[in-house]
Amino acid sequence: MSLHLPVSSASDPHQEDRAQAIRDCLRDAIIDRRLAPGTKLSEAEVGALFDVSRTVVRHGLQMLAFEGLVTMERNKGAFVSNPTPDEARQIFASRRLIEKGIVAAVAGRLTQMQIETLHAHLDEEARLQNLRGTEARRAEIKSSGDFHLTLAKMAGNAILEKFMDELVARSSLVIALYGRTGISSCGCSDHSAILKALEKGETDRATDLMIHHIDHIEADLDLRPVESLSLRQALNL
Ligand SMILES: [Zn+2]
Repeated sequence: MSLHLPVSSASDPHQEDRAQAIRDCLRDAIIDRRLAPGTKLSEAEVGALFDVSRTVVRHGLQMLAFEGLVTMERNKGAFVSNPTPDEARQIFASRRLIEKGIVAAVAGRLTQMQIETLHAHLDEEARLQNLRGTEARRAEIKSSGDFHLTLAKMAGNAILEKFMDELVARSSLVIALYGRTGISSCGCSDHSAILKALEKGETDRATDLMIHHIDHIEADLDLRPVESLSLRQALNL
């Protein structure tokens, strides 16, 4: 499968829109964990569901491949990415660097309206945390990622924002694969402590809290390599 876009799909604005719509739809499904890591994304099936040509489907899938959410395998097609433990660590290492910068950019500089937006966000997170069921949990995980994205947006740097968009999306995949506990990946008490420090302009404290928070999310993952045990060891005999 070629990674180069056919000229016709890239230059036709209508096809470009369709490809973008497919990308958006699949991306939501991956981030919301409706599509599990490793799921095959058949071009023919996606094409039939969206009623578009395979060229358009391929273009949408390639956009997701650029973001690391989809992996294209030669002669096999496209799959929802299945990040390795090393990739998972790299994602969180990148988040520590980038989110430190985001916190430094917004600490003490949030407008009243931005503070209200973030508080409303935390209220929503708390509400979702109290609900039960798979749907509620999906919504909660999405919402906790959105807190980080909203801060990134408020930092006013479109490039950082784009990086964060990708990193948060890839984090959801990693959490889907390696998450240990049944509770939220974020926890809104951490978020509210971060927000409090940001409001007061306590940059160092906000940075420490954010780094600690990301450490915490990472620590909740089980990234140990799977040990190859003998049958006797595996059965504790
Ligand atoms: Zn968080």
